[in-house]
Amino acid sequence: MDIHEYQAKELLHQFGVENPPGALAYSPEQAAYRTRELGGNKWVVKAQVHAGGRGKAGGVKICSTDSEIQAACKEMFGRKIVTHQTGPEGKGIYRVYVECAVPIAAEYYLGLVLDRSSQRVMIVCSREGGMEIEEIAASRPDSIVRESVEPAVGLRDFQCREIGFKLGLEADVIQSFVKALMGCYRAFRDLDATMVEINPLVLTEDRRILALDAKMTFDDNALFRHPQISELRDKSQEDPRECRAADRGLSYVGLEGNIGCIVNGAGLAMATMDTIKHAGGEPANFLDIGGGATPDRVAKAFRLVMSDENVNAVLVNIFAGINRCDWVADGVVQALTDNPASVPVVVRLSGTNVEEGRKILEDSGLPIIKATTLKEAAALTVQAWKDSVKPQMTAPAREVEEPA
Ligand code: GDP
Ligand code: MN
Repeated sequence: MDIHEYQAKELLHQFGVENPPGALAYSPEQAAYRTRELGGNKWVVKAQVHAGGRGKAGGVKICSTDSEIQAACKEMFGRKIVTHQTGPEGKGIYRVYVECAVPIAAEYYLGLVLDRSSQRVMIVCSREGGMEIEEIAASRPDSIVRESVEPAVGLRDFQCREIGFKLGLEADVIQSFVKALMGCYRAFRDLDATMVEINPLVLTEDRRILALDAKMTFDDNALFRHPQISELRDKSQEDPRECRAADRGLSYVGLEGNIGCIVNGAGLAMATMDTIKHAGGEPANFLDIGGGATPDRVAKAFRLVMSDENVNAVLVNIFAGINRCDWVADGVVQALTDNPASVPVVVRLSGTNVEEGRKILEDSGLPIIKATTLKEAAALTVQAWKDSVKPQMTAPAREVEEPA
C-alpha cells in the first residue's frame, strides 16, 4: 500500500526525520488560510498523489502570495496529473500540501528498499538528488552509494557516517544526516515498509538536513499489525477495479488485455495467463477467488470481472482442492442467471466435486463453453474472443486480380 507525501513526512517525523513546517488542504481557500497559520513568506504548494515526478508535471509550485497560492491550487484541484509513474490515465488531485519553502544548498537522493536477493534492507543514496533514481542510475551510476543492513545488528551509526561522507557531506552536518537516515531505517523496520524514499533530502543554506519529499510503501500482508497505517489508505489513488475487489475481500489485478480470468491461487493465475498468451490472447485481469469460495463469493467475483468493459471473454479456471467445483459452478450459474453475459464464457473445472460441478453447468442450459484441460480452455477462450470481435477486426475483402 502506498501513502501520500504528507502522511509519510508525518510518520517519518515521529522517527526523528526533520522536514519543513507544512499543512494539508482540501480546497484553495483552506490552503490559503493554512498557509497564513504556517507563517513565513514563501511556500511550496504540492499536489498529493500517489506518484513521483510531480515537479515536472506542474504538481509542485513555489508561491509567495495568498493569491498565488489560491491560483496554484485552482490549477491542481480536481484535475488529473499525469507523470511517468501514474500511467496515461493519471491520478486525481483532491488534496494539496502547503509547505514553507526552504533555501536549498544541495539535494540528495535517499532510498531504502527491501533487496530480495540479499534478503536485506538496502540503502541507496546519491548526491544527484532531485532526479529519479532510474535517471541517476542511467546517467550517473558512479554517484550511487549502496549499503546493506545486517539484520542481526541493524543499521549502525558508523555506516550512516560513512554513507554521509561518501555523499560529500561535511563534518558539521553529519550528525543530522545520521539522525535522518537512522529515522528512515527505524520507520522502515518498525512499520513493515517495503520502500522509503526521500528525494530530495536537502542540505539547507543554514545547514540543516531536511526531507523535502517523502514516499513510503508498506507490505500489505503486515498491515493487520498497523491499523494506524491502514487508516491512511486513499482509495481515490487506486485502480477502481482493484479497490472494489479489495472491499469484497477478493484479490484482483487489473491488466491491459481483453480476457477476464477467474482462478484460484496465484500460481494457477500465472499459469492461466501464460497459457492464454501462448494461445494468442491477452489477459484483462485476474481474480483470485482464494480457497473454500462459496457460490456467493464466486458470483461476486464473476460480476466484478464482467464489470470491466475491456473484458471481451471470460475464462474461469479452477483447480479445486479446498474449493468445490459444484460451488464454483453454482456461483457462475447464479451470476449468469441474474445477468446474462454479453461475452463468451469458458469454464474449466478440475478437482473436488468436478462431476457435480460439470452437471450443474450442463443442467443450467446457459451458453457456457466447457473445457477439460487448461490448454483446451485457453484455446477455446481465445477462439471465442476472436469470433466475437471478428466483425470489427477483419479488413474488407479485396478484389484480387487473376494473373493472366
Ligand atoms: P516530485 O517531483 O513528485 O518528486 O516532487 P518533489 O517534492 O521532489 O518536488 C520537486 C522539486 O521541487 C524538488 O526536487 C525541489 O527541487 C523542488 N522543491 C520542493 N520543495 C522545495 C522547497 O521548499 N524549496 C525549493 N527551493 N525547492 C523545492
Ligand atoms: Mn521527489
